[in-house]
Amino acid sequence: MEQIKTHWQTLPMGSSLSQPDLLHQLIEEAEAIVIGIGAGMSAAAGFTYVGKRFTDAFPDFIAKYRFFDMLQASLFDFEDEREYWAFKSRFSLLNFFDQPTGQAYVDLRQIISDKNYHIITTNADNAFYAADFDMNKVFRIQGEYGLWQCSEYCHQQTYQDESLIRQMAMEQSDMKIPANLVPYCPKCGAVMEVNKRDEEKGMVEDDHFHEQKARYEQFLDENQTKKILFLEIGVGHTTPQFIKHPFQQMTQANPKSLFVTMNQKDYFTPHTIRPQTVRIDEDIADVLHSAALHE
Ligand SMILES: [Zn+2]
Repeated sequence: MEQIKTHWQTLPMGSSLSQPDLLHQLIEEAEAIVIGIGAGMSAAAGFTYVGKRFTDAFPDFIAKYRFFDMLQASLFDFEDEREYWAFKSRFSLLNFFDQPTGQAYVDLRQIISDKNYHIITTNADNAFYAADFDMNKVFRIQGEYGLWQCSEYCHQQTYQDESLIRQMAMEQSDMKIPANLVPYCPKCGAVMEVNKRDEEKGMVEDDHFHEQKARYEQFLDENQTKKILFLEIGVGHTTPQFIKHPFQQMTQANPKSLFVTMNQKDYFTPHTIRPQTVRIDEDIADVLHSAALHE
């Protein structure tokens, strides 16, 4: 602990600071910041998967299938591709093409605007773009709701057709899009699906994905010996292999680094990095908003 404290001047007085001040100071002090963003951040920005936002958009699907939230609905095995795309077209508009600006994302952008940072996110929504982030500093490791892939994964290429998505949303009836709007793979003829990672099959990863990955890895490489802040925001335990575990391992590998976790849930932290861990457990939106007022 003492050794870490000598690296981070903020830490000895950390307990006397408010959580927004603590976050602000640590970001000021860091030489590099790697930010991992999970579903909790989008929920904090108002992009929730439950309640009115969900029930307003999908009353017919909820009545038919008794879905309790949008996550369950989005993973559902629909009866055919016309119904799948009736749901997914509306879902893509709501969570990608027509996604409004989220205040928590704007606040985060402000906090880190003049810093040396890079972002990795498991969120497939369009919140970073909507909040005007530099997309060259964002790595969407779990795909994007605005992209499509062959459902048979026959080739590594993604596709996007916003106007067709809008047409599907407009022209559907009884939770089915017209058969002639169903998109098919240009190589093998299988139906297309939204770009996403499957536990067994993986994900279609094309040049766009590999460029993002390379930029992220280059940032890690260039900054690995510096005083790095690994800041995870709203990262749960659904897919810890993408953010939580690598952040903890990289923290352990660099004694000058610090792991800051912003989460109201207290997830397990390995003993070895507890002296290098700071937990911020107040409301994510409130902490980011107050911290942004410093800028
Ligand atoms: Zn195909």
